[in-house]
Amino acid sequence: MIVNASAGIECDYCGTFAIYPLMLNEVLKCNSCDKKWGTVPVDLSLENPCIICACERFYKRKDFNQILGLVILLTGIILSIIYSYFILMGFVLLDVLLYQLVPDAGICYKCSAEFRGIENIDKLNHFDHHTAELYQYAVENK
Ligand SMILES: [Zn+2]
Ligand SMILES: [Zn+2]
Repeated sequence: MIVNASAGIECDYCGTFAIYPLMLNEVLKCNSCDKKWGTVPVDLSLENPCIICACERFYKRKDFNQILGLVILLTGIILSIIYSYFILMGFVLLDVLLYQLVPDAGICYKCSAEFRGIENIDKLNHFDHHTAELYQYAVENK
């Protein structure tokens, strides 16, 4: 069964990053080294632990290259110096619009796997440093 969900995973074994479609009840494994991470649960949800590392905490992040937003803004600023402030406002508006249109991705605190198209992503909290330190500390001392 195919759902409209995917996960961006960096393999903890060979370091290859790829986007994988999440197919319910199928084994998720690395494209390049065949390392198996686990079976996608039928009740796929971010309220369940991470498929990859079993970590239970996720945060949400806008699912687009954040550099893109910055580039748009910088281009706007430069253009506005040359032309007028109206252009800057236009670009800021575009940026805001992009931000609204782009969906959130759910990111695992521990293994940084990026989950998309799964329910409840909007219920997640934004990135929290203390939580991140907690889980990254746990990784380092594994
Ligand atoms: Zn691998
Ligand atoms: Zn994880």
